[in-house]
Amino acid sequence: MPAMDPVPSETVLSVDDLSIAFRSEGRWLEVVRGASFDILPRQTLAIVGESGSGKSVTSLAIMRLLPRQTSRVSGNITLCGRNLLALPEAQMRKVRGRDVSMIYQEPMTSLNPMFTVGDQINEAVRTHSPEYSGSEVKAASLALMDKVRIPSAKARFHEHPHQFSGGMRQRVMIAIALASRPKLLIADEPTTALDVTIQGQVLDLIKELQAEEGMSVLFITHDMGVVAEMADRTMVMYRGETVERGTTERVFHASTAPYTRALLASVP
Ligand code: ADP
Ligand code: MG
Repeated sequence: MPAMDPVPSETVLSVDDLSIAFRSEGRWLEVVRGASFDILPRQTLAIVGESGSGKSVTSLAIMRLLPRQTSRVSGNITLCGRNLLALPEAQMRKVRGRDVSMIYQEPMTSLNPMFTVGDQINEAVRTHSPEYSGSEVKAASLALMDKVRIPSAKARFHEHPHQFSGGMRQRVMIAIALASRPKLLIADEPTTALDVTIQGQVLDLIKELQAEEGMSVLFITHDMGVVAEMADRTMVMYRGETVERGTTERVFHASTAPYTRALLASVP
């Protein structure tokens, strides 16, 4: 018997013993310690924990977007069979475009205020389908706007980001993320900046798109209510440590960590 189970070949993402440190005033400060988790096709894993627990840096490590000079990442990250931490940057750029996409909390800062929403979706489509003609690009962009349920897509195509509400801007970001048909969508607090009713609509959209596209989702949140709604599996982080990991059902009904129970107590 081998000491460790091999990563099943169908695993979309496998993170093994991930540690992340930042250089601060001449020494290394570890902000994530020994995180391990897998995501299977069509599965949603939630990483939950209070602010500062290391959720976002974990997702940035997967994207290989941490600052090179001041951060240190160890462990293994395997995405669609590729060992990401060993991949040359040029290949990593392709992985970012093709296998994994990310959406963030604040869609206003990720959209360029100078360009129309249509131009920005076009740009994403063109990047992933360079063989498309101009009219094919536009048709694909309008189809993406329909896919994320932006009403009157044809008219709104020519509007600028400030003319969109927060919820609609997040839909635009999701459309851009889906342009590459990613195997994995990383959603880092995608609804935290939105009004509660709009939050529910965007969460429903992500669930529907996941079913339609057959994606896996890594869903990062501080909100146990959102976890209950979104995730098959849940990992709880506290100050860089994984305090609990399991099916969402088990974490909610038979949690083993006092910190998890404290988080659960805050759910209305
Ligand atoms: P979360 O997303 O769970 O709120 P983060 O992953 O953003 O937390 O941050 C985890 C820790 O790493 C925090 O203490 C934060 O201050 C620190 N940190 C995040 N990014 C950097 C960086 N670029 N340089 C130094 N420290 C950082
Ligand atoms: Mg964060």
